[in-house]
Amino acid sequence: MQDNTLIVKDSADAAESAGWKRQLSRAVRDPAELCRRLNLADAWLPGAEGGHALFETCVPEAFLARIEPGNLADPLLRQVLPLGEETRETSGFVADPLEEAEQRPARGLIHKYHGRVLLIASPTCAVNCRYCFRRHFPYADNAPSRAQWREALGYLRDDDSIREAIFSGGDPLAGSDRQLGWLVGELENIAHLKRLRIHTRLPVVIPDRVDDALLAWLDATWLQTVMVLHINHANEIDQAVIDACTRLQKAGVTLLNQSVLLRGVNDSVSALEALSERLFEARILPYYLHVLDPVAGAAHFDVGDDEARELVDKLRQRLPGFLMPRLVREIPGEPSKTPL
Ligand code: SF4
Repeated sequence: MQDNTLIVKDSADAAESAGWKRQLSRAVRDPAELCRRLNLADAWLPGAEGGHALFETCVPEAFLARIEPGNLADPLLRQVLPLGEETRETSGFVADPLEEAEQRPARGLIHKYHGRVLLIASPTCAVNCRYCFRRHFPYADNAPSRAQWREALGYLRDDDSIREAIFSGGDPLAGSDRQLGWLVGELENIAHLKRLRIHTRLPVVIPDRVDDALLAWLDATWLQTVMVLHINHANEIDQAVIDACTRLQKAGVTLLNQSVLLRGVNDSVSALEALSERLFEARILPYYLHVLDPVAGAAHFDVGDDEARELVDKLRQRLPGFLMPRLVREIPGEPSKTPL
């Protein structure tokens, strides 16, 4: 077996100061700057500042470049522009819609389903999606030190029903390759683990994240690796994203996608059809289409269940089965995602 730690250290030393970190540090985090850069009328600014006060704006340059300036209906802009609607209270929309606070047996670890656990591998993201179900998540309480990671790893070691570790966040790939490589090395020492799954939006919003340092530890691990990307609209997939996905595939990573059905972003048959087609051009298979989790501040994105089913029924008439995502809802306490 190759020494993952050494491989990661060498590659990380060469590339850790690489472009993606600079791009992340230069992401637009000021709503006024976002409006100015995208030629949005000043009228939007007070609302944007209200939403921003609840959940910080964060849009990296590579994602910003795919938004049409001056178009308030742009489906990528809708995902990242804070709005006054976020400050409105809506019955049933709460801070922790999936009741994850109840499912944390160790710091940095969430255990919801049989056979797999989530590790909060990084508390930050490269983009702040306005509909995010973890927009109120207490990341400060879930950023383990190395010693605390060992406690979480001990939990995995003690439960031999766990076959899959899932890096989640935040966005796990916002973490350093040195830290991620260390964690993967620790997971490889747990004999009953078979798979590593990584839930990430970073290769989409900053494709340069897929650099040599990342590929080094992905390529070196013997764990079967699945990356679940998060893409909601075909316009998110440009050539740089396709190139990043090609590199991931060459490193042996299986690529899947999960989307959220969002009002004003992808709530039409044509948008969902174009998304599946474009995903396959990037060699990514559609996996889940989630209905919105009822998180406080995101009610304006909600699409009702009947409408969601109707959209998916029509979509089925247009796409081959392997390009059909499964329409699901996550219900706290259920042993799996619930098909609609
Ligand atoms: S990247 Fe994922 S975790 Fe981060 S804000 Fe977006 S949806 Fe939430």
